[in-house]
Amino acid sequence: MNDLATLKSDMEGCSRCSHCKWVPMAQIKSWRFAKICPSVDRYNFHAYSGGGKLIASNSILEGRSEVTDPVMEIVYRCQLCGACQVSCQAYRDDIDLADVLLALRAKCVTEGYVLPEHLLMIESMKKEDNTLGLLKADRGVWAKDLDLIDINTQKVEVLFHAGCRYSYDEDLRSSVRNWVRLFRNAGVDLGAAGPEESCCGGRAFEMGYQGEMKNFAEDMIGRIKASGAKLLVTPCSDCYYTFKYLYPKNGMDAGLRVLHAVEYADLLIKQGRLKLGKCASLRVTYHDPCHLGRRGEIYKMGWNGVNKLHRPVRFKQMGNLGIFDPPRNVIRSIPGLDLVEMERIREYSWCCGAGGGVLEAFPDFADWTARDRIEEARAAGAEAIVTACPWCERVFKDAIAAGGDPMKVYDVIDLITMSWGG
Ligand code: SF4
Ligand code: SF4
Repeated sequence: MNDLATLKSDMEGCSRCSHCKWVPMAQIKSWRFAKICPSVDRYNFHAYSGGGKLIASNSILEGRSEVTDPVMEIVYRCQLCGACQVSCQAYRDDIDLADVLLALRAKCVTEGYVLPEHLLMIESMKKEDNTLGLLKADRGVWAKDLDLIDINTQKVEVLFHAGCRYSYDEDLRSSVRNWVRLFRNAGVDLGAAGPEESCCGGRAFEMGYQGEMKNFAEDMIGRIKASGAKLLVTPCSDCYYTFKYLYPKNGMDAGLRVLHAVEYADLLIKQGRLKLGKCASLRVTYHDPCHLGRRGEIYKMGWNGVNKLHRPVRFKQMGNLGIFDPPRNVIRSIPGLDLVEMERIREYSWCCGAGGGVLEAFPDFADWTARDRIEEARAAGAEAIVTACPWCERVFKDAIAAGGDPMKVYDVIDLITMSWGG
């Protein structure tokens, strides 16, 4: 990660303009859905915003203030959704908010200011290689009878990485199994690591346990290289972000192409290798997962040239190069589905609420954030909210079940399966 001197220019550069609380002006469609930061919207105090956290970090990272319980609340009641970064960069091109937020969490962890719920997750990751506190031996159960190639003993072309949530969440099991069936239908030579698959480590990194991710990455990269795979496909947006951004940013190279399952499905449809059927008439809206959308932007090295007319710039995620069109292309290619858009979409999306360790430590805040998104889907006239991330799906499903809401929730694969009559 960046050193203190680099972070310093971000922290001191904040002009206290508060744009990081709002959708950029030109993109606002209504007052009701004009806000972009769940943290400051929920807790209504400047310190919870991206800019507020920059000010706190400026003092804490230099050791001029201490982390206290109220500071911990501010640091961790944040989904690390990246929306503040995108809004800030609509006006400023020289601040990397995301890096500062990550550094602040790492500092808290180094100094022992940790949340018990996060510690539980880290213990589970160390002991059972997953974020959900379940047995490692059960990790491959989801793939029972699918006859996936075992990459621990055979070489494969394409490696399927299910991720922790899809491996263990029984409610979402049919989705992950259907992704495998879909790629099989397209003739893809697909393998998986079964019980040997482990967490990508991205969640640990975001919660401030940066060293933990390195351990998982080394393990993961060793297994990928031994498999001979040329392509890694994952249906989990969190894992996607970790492989595509966090690993390379931290100098770890898996040496293969990485695609999210919806990107791969879109590609196979365009190549004529995958045919979709028809769905019963349904009006749907697509929720961009933060880690596939604005935070799914690939990591690129900063410009390092000598052109004196331009100052060297570090690479920052602008958000607009994330994965936005492939899921929409897939949805639009299914006759019967009517795709309507919410007000906050693509890099300006509202978070589902689950990220940054919020679902684990502050489920009430995750639920509040998810409900705001469901409200937005309803305002768009949608009967169903569709996403491409098991974490978003989980938090939406739970919010809907708790509130007795008629809104339906699907993963893109569920719509594809429905189009085949499944
Ligand atoms: S972080 Fe950026 S958008 Fe937010 S107050 Fe500071 S300069 Fe303004
Ligand atoms: S990362 Fe998201 S929740 Fe956290 S301060 Fe930025 S916009 Fe708010």
